[in-house]
Amino acid sequence: MSSTSYNPYKIAQEQFDSVAEKIGLDSSTREFLRQPMREYHFLIPVRMDDGSVKVFNGYRVQHNDARGPAKGGIRFHPQETIDTIRALAMWMTWKCSVVDIPLGGGKGGVVCDPRNLSEREQERLCRGYVRQLAKNVGPCLDVPAPDVMTSAKHMLWMLDEYETITGAKYPGFITGKPVGMGGSLGRTEATGYGVIYILREALKRLNIKIENTTASFQGFGNVSQHAVKLYRQMGGNVVAISCWDANDKTAYTYRMKNGFDINALFSITDTYGTIDKNKAIELGCEVLPGDAWIEQDVDILIPAALENQITRENVNRISKNVKVIVEAANGPTTPDADKVINERGIFLVPDFLANAGGVTCSYFEQVQSNTNYYWDLDEVLHKLDSKMTMAFSSVYELSVNRKLNMRDAAYVIAINRVAQAAKSRAWV
Ligand code: NAD
Repeated sequence: MSSTSYNPYKIAQEQFDSVAEKIGLDSSTREFLRQPMREYHFLIPVRMDDGSVKVFNGYRVQHNDARGPAKGGIRFHPQETIDTIRALAMWMTWKCSVVDIPLGGGKGGVVCDPRNLSEREQERLCRGYVRQLAKNVGPCLDVPAPDVMTSAKHMLWMLDEYETITGAKYPGFITGKPVGMGGSLGRTEATGYGVIYILREALKRLNIKIENTTASFQGFGNVSQHAVKLYRQMGGNVVAISCWDANDKTAYTYRMKNGFDINALFSITDTYGTIDKNKAIELGCEVLPGDAWIEQDVDILIPAALENQITRENVNRISKNVKVIVEAANGPTTPDADKVINERGIFLVPDFLANAGGVTCSYFEQVQSNTNYYWDLDEVLHKLDSKMTMAFSSVYELSVNRKLNMRDAAYVIAINRVAQAAKSRAWV
């Protein structure tokens, strides 16, 4: 959600322009890819429980669909802006492209605060959103998914409205559905597991054995918990985790110098990813300030909470022993901090590659829904591992061959693939 000082769309365009320059992209292709192909802005009138009608602003942006139907979440947020949605749609295009799934980039949103809406009002809002867009989205056009403050129940209401309008069953219209109602096994763990498949590959290239490594994580929510679990299973040792404490309205870093007992940690964590401070102390954890996760003497840092967490102000607190940073969160590193990380030679895997496990599994959900045949968990995770591993290898090879850092290499691959698809279709 953008403010005047931080406009994500401007940042997304600047990132694109810089790579377009590096790869010498022609001017018409640049013009075509640096902005969305289509945008829908519409009003959604909703009958409220008290009988009044409230009008909400809704958006859907299809940044680019040269490689396949657009794909991206729908967020409900009071500060939602069209520029945030444009940026997120653009990043979805690059994310789908870098993991080589045949989808484009899209994103949607409604300016609203679902916390102030009843269940029935939320249902009417979801149905109203789909009514405004039904002709312009669909399994072969644009496939939405959950995002900030939307979940499986919203997806099911949206699916039901779409099927009511079209008069047939189209489970592939939307992803993030509940398992048993068209959802895919493995979606919950997909992003966190994907982060660790990527970490495993990075460590192999650096000749580091994962079982000899230690890591510090920021965040202990959906992504981080599954990443921590798999990293531990592979033999890594988690020594610090930070999370937000809603009671104290501050973040803490919990440290266990010899490594956490992960199951004990799960048992004292709530559904929002908050570790119970008093119980953590009973387990023997040290309680440090929230930002102490970044200065731990570890091999690996995994920011998995929020954007703009590694900044010019704290980047120099990163220990000299840190060898790898895997960006599990979206946009955790500011451009100036990124520069310092590069200069220090720390191996950084960028967000749109590192956390692409989520959209990859959403694509698997779409495939399963379209064919109405569902895979078992092992099959989903096996396919996820192989997609993430292949994506990492292509980016790594290019980074070595062209002497690029991993972020630039990932952008070069992603943008080139989309540009090539647009050219092959004779669009540009
Ligand atoms: P989540 O809400 O489940 O968890 C967020 C965690 O961050 C919580 O543990 C919270 O306590 C912690 N946190 C919040 N503020 C903090 C602070 N100031 N310091 C330390 N910890 C703090 O979210 P999630 O789904 O795990 O997503 C995490 C990140 O990954 C986000 O950037 C999200 O956009 C990105 N992401 C998520 C997915 C997915 O599939 N869930 C996919 C791609 C990217």
